[in-house]
Amino acid sequence: MFFDGSLLQEVFKQLRLKGEISEDEENTCLSRMEFADLKDNQLIINVPSGYYKDRFEDLFQDKISAEISEMEGTNISVHFEVKRPQEKKTVQAQQPIIHEKKESKTHKRPEGLVETYTFDNFVVGDKNLYSREAALAIAKEPGKKFNPCLMVGNVGLGKTHLLQAIGNYIFDHDQSLKIVYVTAEKFVREFIEMLGKSEGSKSMSKSSKNMAFKDKYRKADVLLIDDIHTFQGKSETQEELFHIFNDLYEAKKQIVLTCDRPISELKNLNERLKSRFSRGITVDLRPPDFETKIAIIHKKLESFNAIFPQDVIELIAETVKTNVRDLEAAITNIYSYADLTRKQVTIELAKERLKASNNVQVDEIFSIDRVQRVIADYFNVSINDLKGKKKNKSIVYPRQIAMYICREMTDFPTTEIGLEFGGRDHTTVMHACQKINDLRIADPNLDAMLQNLIRSVREHKEMI
Ligand code: ADP
Ligand code: MG
Repeated sequence: MFFDGSLLQEVFKQLRLKGEISEDEENTCLSRMEFADLKDNQLIINVPSGYYKDRFEDLFQDKISAEISEMEGTNISVHFEVKRPQEKKTVQAQQPIIHEKKESKTHKRPEGLVETYTFDNFVVGDKNLYSREAALAIAKEPGKKFNPCLMVGNVGLGKTHLLQAIGNYIFDHDQSLKIVYVTAEKFVREFIEMLGKSEGSKSMSKSSKNMAFKDKYRKADVLLIDDIHTFQGKSETQEELFHIFNDLYEAKKQIVLTCDRPISELKNLNERLKSRFSRGITVDLRPPDFETKIAIIHKKLESFNAIFPQDVIELIAETVKTNVRDLEAAITNIYSYADLTRKQVTIELAKERLKASNNVQVDEIFSIDRVQRVIADYFNVSINDLKGKKKNKSIVYPRQIAMYICREMTDFPTTEIGLEFGGRDHTTVMHACQKINDLRIADPNLDAMLQNLIRSVREHKEMI
């Protein structure tokens, strides 16, 4: 009897040889299952998520048990247990940034800094490369270049992430520096409290509160203030901030600020403060492009230990146009729905979930006409041929592919698709879809071609 991972390898090899599972299934199982324990006739197998536990229980529990009984002549019951692996490395070809952390735990991470916001898990694309590079340069040499740094961008585009990444990076590399991270909202609250406007706390006198506030900010080596648009209309706070800013700036301490709009658009903000804020470098964050969205989705899925089919990933990237926060919300929505209802993530399920989520702009409805034009163009046949009666293979194949893609990408019923293909019966459409689907599963080249075609239709999208 094998008492380690080789047991599973042997079991799946046998199952494959007997034709009970395919080679793909064997590979998937072996990459997701980990031998954990075998005692008292119980085999425990670790799997990375509840989703896999349920799927594997349905599909393989009995097969594995039967195979071991046959191999060893003993009855073994098989149990799957969820064991989430440590977070894996990035899928991107991106260099890890933090090479050697100084692991001294003498200092506590500064208040407000969330450890998970790092440069390593910030996905870089064309639209945010400059901001990321500037933030990293600041983190490596705080106070030396780019001071102050102002990050501007709409909600959900990664301002807080980068601001926090600067703080975390500095904390991990040089604990002699005093880092202060604060949201503008909290700064205002602390200021009001310091002024004694909320007299609730008796434990500290007004003057010691005053000292504590000033100390906290004036002693900072790195001051990170998030969402400075909140300072609009708070003139007393602005006055205090102005003095703090000047002191730190003159002492060459690093200041980084974020704002949800260009400084010039802020109202009721002291002009002197505006000019101070814009004195250094201003970087802006823009919505990610398609490729970056794909990379972000992969990264998020990694953290869930989940795998979505490529067409679902592309659908999400194409559908969510607003910002990264909405992108994350869409992924979480689809993932948790599938996980809880124990369903497979399919394009249909993803479409449903995307429609159901509020923040997501779903406007992707492709016309049958559009699909026909892309396919006709690709196969160099005419649209009339796709709709017509010709039965030669060079026409039938593109026609079936076009029907299949219509079914995949649109919500039209087969009856309607049939009508658009020269008034064919819906059973013809169903047959075509089934045939292409079967071929697609067996042939990776066809799969790749279909993905390309789907992408082409998407890129030339038209509304109906
Ligand atoms: P903002 O402060 O601009 O409103 P956040 O920094 O809070 O946006 O970003 C929203 C969410 O999107 C966060 O969970 C953040 O980690 C994630 N996010 C934003 N940009 C990226 C990126 N480039 N790579 C990975 N995650 C990102
Ligand atoms: Mg933010």
